[in-house]
Amino acid sequence: MAGFLDTDIKFLKGVGATRAKTLASELEIATFRDLLFNFPFRHIDRSRFYTIGELCGDDLPALQIKGRFISFSKEGEGVKQRLSGIFSDGRKLMECVWFSKIQYIAGSLKTGVDYVIFGKPNLFRNAYSMVHPEVEAYDPSKPPTGFRGVYSVTETMRKKGFTTRLMQNLVSNLFANTGYATIEETLPEEIVRGCSLMPLRDALRQMHFPDNAHALRKATERMKFEELFYVEAHILRFSMERGSRIPGYVFRTIGEKFNGFYFNVLPFELTGAQKRVLKEIRADMKTGRQMNRLLQGDVGSGKTMVAFMSMLMAVDNGCQGALMAPTEILATQHYETLCGWAAPIGVRVELLTGSTRAAKRKEIHAALESGDIDIIVGTHALIEDTVVFRRLGLAVIDEQHRFGVAQRARMWRKNSVAPHVLVMTATPIPRTLAMTVYGDLEVSVIDELPPGRKPVTTLLRYDTNRHEVDRLIGSQLREGRQVYIVYPLIEENEKLELKSLEEGYKRTCETFPSYRVCFVHGGMKPAEKDHQMDLFVRGEARIMVATTVIEVGVNVPNASVMVIENAERFGLSQLHQLRGRVGRGADQSYCILMGKVKAAAETKKRLSIMTETTDGFLISEADMKIRGPGDMEGTQQSGLAFNLHVADLARDGQILSKAREVALSVLRGNPGLLAPGCTATEASPGDPSPIPLTARSAAVVASELRVRFARSEDWSRIS
Ligand code: ADP
Ligand code: MG
Repeated sequence: MAGFLDTDIKFLKGVGATRAKTLASELEIATFRDLLFNFPFRHIDRSRFYTIGELCGDDLPALQIKGRFISFSKEGEGVKQRLSGIFSDGRKLMECVWFSKIQYIAGSLKTGVDYVIFGKPNLFRNAYSMVHPEVEAYDPSKPPTGFRGVYSVTETMRKKGFTTRLMQNLVSNLFANTGYATIEETLPEEIVRGCSLMPLRDALRQMHFPDNAHALRKATERMKFEELFYVEAHILRFSMERGSRIPGYVFRTIGEKFNGFYFNVLPFELTGAQKRVLKEIRADMKTGRQMNRLLQGDVGSGKTMVAFMSMLMAVDNGCQGALMAPTEILATQHYETLCGWAAPIGVRVELLTGSTRAAKRKEIHAALESGDIDIIVGTHALIEDTVVFRRLGLAVIDEQHRFGVAQRARMWRKNSVAPHVLVMTATPIPRTLAMTVYGDLEVSVIDELPPGRKPVTTLLRYDTNRHEVDRLIGSQLREGRQVYIVYPLIEENEKLELKSLEEGYKRTCETFPSYRVCFVHGGMKPAEKDHQMDLFVRGEARIMVATTVIEVGVNVPNASVMVIENAERFGLSQLHQLRGRVGRGADQSYCILMGKVKAAAETKKRLSIMTETTDGFLISEADMKIRGPGDMEGTQQSGLAFNLHVADLARDGQILSKAREVALSVLRGNPGLLAPGCTATEASPGDPSPIPLTARSAAVVASELRVRFARSEDWSRIS
């Protein structure tokens, strides 16, 4: 019965029209389902007293322990002072730590008195501790209050009388409703049993009101598994269909243009990684199936050359190549680079962007259709419906994260035969994650920089070092170099940010009066922005003060200093991208991270990773550990067809691989779940054995996939 879950939340006991409105506007809770799946963000366990010895694992809820303090000591000086109390439950010891109100706490707590401490135990070096626990005198007559969830309640909700307690009551009213028993299992029963998962109805109850920590863990595991199972099933289904259905051009020969370029024009030796990747691409384009490959390579690793030589393979086989960039400036730079390489071998390259004049545009359209143009470089203008190719054999998309999957799909529609697709990105996504989230893409990695590059020297500096930084900038300017100064732009606080950006611009102009300074931010008109960027690209302006809107991939080899203000506001991957704007020439370059003297130790540690390594993959992995992949640049706008609510790709790796394996088995055992007329690709050695489902279970999977990925169905159907 779908009825219960889809019931309007206003009909729930305790809600009504007014509260329903608040729930909808503040938390997007409109139905019983929404409330049921609005899980607590943490739990409080006051169901009983724990002993220190039984604590296990590193993600414990806040819980209570009975015992006595044995000793107190103050450590450190001034703002760094802290109070440490050693607490004993009669058998084992645990440290409690306070960083503020130290005098007051030290004065009010005593040793040798029975207390109940309450807080979240943190595991560090095999020992648990609690930071700022709640401490109260032990009162044997006070009953335990249970194991409860804590819910997010916004400020607006608070003003209207919402509390965690009220949320708990509302959820509990849901469970008391007789309709609750009608909720149906959303995983195939074979899987629930086979993987020993907690059934849905139990799991939901345990998520909100766990019986104990073990039950909560099992419930969480089930919810995460389910989420990842469907994501994987969706991705695998899509890639199996693609594998079996989408034919591609067969590029049999390495021909005259490629060889002519390789032997006579190529201005340097290819790196080993470039050669390997070109081989991978060549192998793909021979199979008769459409290539769909992600090319990851750190900034400056030479992806453009790989793109160009791959397009030559298309040209040699009677096809055209297209290179699409996210911005006009980037497209123009690519165009100029490619013209220099293509002219000597008689390959015609043209540029098509939003600002191409009407007459020129018409001429290009005609030449693309007749096949006179071999390679076209451009922006989104390339995927307008008016653009028709004679035979587009390879489409290369640079800087993937600005284009979604839907746009990729649009390019395929341009031909009767789908072009091979190569997506290039400098955002290093750890390989395991890439395979999972991009499932339908093969991944190639350029993990080697061209020889002779000097690694960028990265320095962490503070406001107190301003003069030293100015001196460094000054000396680089005198040597003829160019400098970027970048400010963060955070939307909620745009006014304030703009002010600090403008002040930075003013200060820079005053400090370096003899150099032209250009100024770029997101609020500018595109034409003005382009003009300012252009001043810098042409070297007329020697300093650029900008927000992070500065174009990804812009190549100004003469720039040797990148100053990043308020560096703590950036993610590591973003810092790495920005740093990649310098160090493109042979001379020493600098990246200066301006931090706050007062920043937390953790922040400083995070920033110091940047000073220790220039390896984008290490940085990206560190970033993912710290922030979780949801926040990672590149995964967010890359056209992921899903959001994760309970699972976390960075932490739930094991559940993820299990979910992927089970999803693969289910699809293999039930080809009916694939699109009509499509057969699963042949099993590879090591693939898990197929799991046949009952008709009922297969229907459950089919319907969940439909509901969960309704929006992405249409692009997955494009062939
Ligand atoms: P990215 O991967 O960031 O797009 P580019 O393709 O812009 O990097 O390459 C950066 C610079 O390195 C360019 O000037 C390019 O000509 C040069 N380059 C590329 N491959 C090599 C190589 N094998 N040896 C020397 N220089 C190279
Ligand atoms: Mg590039």
